[in-house]
Amino acid sequence: MNDQYPFSTLPVWQHTLAGPLSFEGVGLHLGVPARLSLSGTAANTGLVFRRTDVQDKNPLITLYPGAVCQTRRGTSIGNVDGVTIATAEHLLAALYACGVDNACIDLHGPEIPAMDGSALDFARSIVRVGVQQQSSPRRFMEIIEPVEVLDDAKSVRLEPFGGLQIEARINYPKTLIGDQMYQIEVNPKGFMREIASARTFVLAQEISALREADLALGGSLDNCIVVDGMTLQNKTELRFKDEFVRHKILDILGDLALAGAPILGRFISDCAGHALNNALLQAMARDRKKWRWTELV
Ligand SMILES: [Zn+2]
Repeated sequence: MNDQYPFSTLPVWQHTLAGPLSFEGVGLHLGVPARLSLSGTAANTGLVFRRTDVQDKNPLITLYPGAVCQTRRGTSIGNVDGVTIATAEHLLAALYACGVDNACIDLHGPEIPAMDGSALDFARSIVRVGVQQQSSPRRFMEIIEPVEVLDDAKSVRLEPFGGLQIEARINYPKTLIGDQMYQIEVNPKGFMREIASARTFVLAQEISALREADLALGGSLDNCIVVDGMTLQNKTELRFKDEFVRHKILDILGDLALAGAPILGRFISDCAGHALNNALLQAMARDRKKWRWTELV
């Protein structure tokens, strides 16, 4: 256990969980109950998912950009045997931003529990159990030349920066959301305070099409903000006036965890989503001139 945790700087040594954690609940999209257990593991093993309810196929899923198998309203990951885990991004954001490099993540079920639609329960539990510093330095993917992916008016970009900074903009005209922009330099303490509790959201008019596509089946006012024009359907208040763009940053952090190593750079998202986030990681993986391995100790 480290007394200064959660750190207000970017961790430079690898860390794992100092104790076990467990969660249960239904997933946001599939609506199926699942049990999630996390435990600490050795340095240099990364975040390894295991589907404990899968017997006849390889149940292990490791993180790399190609592990992303679906990006419609969430990020699903999988392995070559077709074993998948849906909506991994909020848990991944909590682990990534809290500096947990190495952990075993056992899931009994097909989708990570939605909890309250944010990463708050995951992040609070990580802070409560604490992290254990390991004897290996973190190996960062340091961006040395800008990488950018565009899709019509949407774009994502990574550029050199001496830490991890995320800037996001979203624009939902004629709704309560409107045009929002937020920027943060990521460290465990700042993530806990500014990002972890920001909940996922949906526009009321999108819900029936999502359900027809077998999405949002576990969604409710308890795990999602529902925006109906200029009003909220939820009885509770927003947690931040700009909760929506803060959630966008939460999603970006979860998607960046799929790089498989911590990134040193500045990430800028203009109205983009999970698909473009992953396309940027794939572009980076293809072009080794854009980044190099770096240790900061
Ligand atoms: Zn999300």
